[in-house]
Amino acid sequence: MAADSALLLILLFMAAAAAGWYVARRTAPDSRRNGTERELNADYFAGLNFLLNEEPDKALEVFVRMVDVDSDTIETHFALGNLFRRRGEVNRAIQIHQNIFERKGLPRRHREQALRALAEDYLKAGLLDRAEAYLQQLADQPAYRREALERLVLIYEQEREWEQAIAIRDRLADETHTGRSPVVAHYFCELAQKALAADKPEQAQEYLRRARAADRDNLRGAILRAEIAVGEGDFKLASRLYRRVMEQDPGFAPLTLPALRRCHEAMDDRAGLGELLSAMVSKQPGLKAGLAYAAIVDEGFDDPITRECITDFVRRNPMLTDLMSTLRPDAASDADGEQGLRRITRALRMLSASNPSYRCENCGFSGTVLQWQCPTCKNWDSTRPTASFRFEASLGVPRLAR
Ligand SMILES: [Zn+2]
Repeated sequence: MAADSALLLILLFMAAAAAGWYVARRTAPDSRRNGTERELNADYFAGLNFLLNEEPDKALEVFVRMVDVDSDTIETHFALGNLFRRRGEVNRAIQIHQNIFERKGLPRRHREQALRALAEDYLKAGLLDRAEAYLQQLADQPAYRREALERLVLIYEQEREWEQAIAIRDRLADETHTGRSPVVAHYFCELAQKALAADKPEQAQEYLRRARAADRDNLRGAILRAEIAVGEGDFKLASRLYRRVMEQDPGFAPLTLPALRRCHEAMDDRAGLGELLSAMVSKQPGLKAGLAYAAIVDEGFDDPITRECITDFVRRNPMLTDLMSTLRPDAASDADGEQGLRRITRALRMLSASNPSYRCENCGFSGTVLQWQCPTCKNWDSTRPTASFRFEASLGVPRLAR
C-alpha cells in the first residue's frame, strides 16, 4: 500500500517537473540541448525501470537526480518532500530536502526553506540532535528566528537540557521584546532538583535564588525551599514558606497543609498549628474547602477549626448529606457531633483513594504525582491538586465490578 502510493507520488512529481523541463528545453541553446537530452533519456528509462520493478526508493533517487533543482522545479521538489514527510516516509523527505539544500548557488530564501524542511523531517523522525543542528542554523536567519527558537525550546525541554532552554528562552524574549518568560523559573527549579540529587545543596539554593529572581510568584521554588528547610530541620522556615504558598494560591492547600502539619508536629506545636490554621482561614475564607479536603484525605488533622471546615464541607454537599443519611440514618442528624463527623470523614477518605490527586486544567490529564509540566499538553503550571470528590466515579466502581 505504501509502495503503491509512493509510486503515485513519484509519477505526480514527474508530471509536475515535466512542465519545468519543457520551459528549460525551449530556452536552452541547441548545442547544450542534445547532450542534456541524451543523459536525461537514459536516466528517465532507468528510473522507469525501477518503478516497474516496484523499487520506489531507487526510482526516486534517479528522478530527483534527473530533475535539476532550479527556479522552475524547486517548489515541486519541496512539495514532494513535504508530502512524503506527512505520510511518515521521512527518509524519502530527507533525501529530497537534502538534495535541494546541497545545490550550489541556491537563493537564500530557498536555502532557509530547505533548512526548515530538514528540521521538520528530523523532528518527525524523532532525531532531535539533527533537528537541533538545523534549527540552530535557522535561528541565525531573521525570517525564521522566532519559529526556530520556539522549536528549540521544546527540544531542550524534552531533552531536559535546562541551561540550553534558559538561553533560548532569553533569546526568544529579546526577539519578541516580551521580557523573560516565567517558565525560566521552572528550569532553575529543575536544575536545583538535579543539584539536590547530586548532594550539592549550596548549588541548589543558588538555582532557587535565580528561580525567584525569574518569577517571584513561582510556587514550585517556594515548595522546594520548604522541603530543603525540612531536610535541614528548620521547621520554622518551612512552615513560613508553606503558608506563603497557600496565601498565594489556596488551591495548593491539599498539597501544602499536610506538610505544614508535619512541620508543627516536628516542633511539638500542635496547638500552635490550630491557631495558625484558624488565623489563616479567617484571613482567607477561600482556604476552608482546601483545608477540609486536606484534612479528610490526610488523617493527621485534629483541631476545632479543621472539624469546623469539614462540617461546613459536608453541609454544602447535598449529595453527600443525602448519601450519608441513607447509609447511616444517625449520621446526618449527628453531623455536628463528633461521631457523625468521624464516620463521614472515614467514608470520604475511602472514596478519595480512587481519586487522582492532580489534574491538568488545560487538557484534563490526571495522575497521582504533581508534574509541573503536563506530560500530555506540555503546558507549565497547568496541573493542580484536586480538591473535590468524584462521587459518581467512585460509586460506579461496585456497579462495574458486579
Ligand atoms: Zn495538560
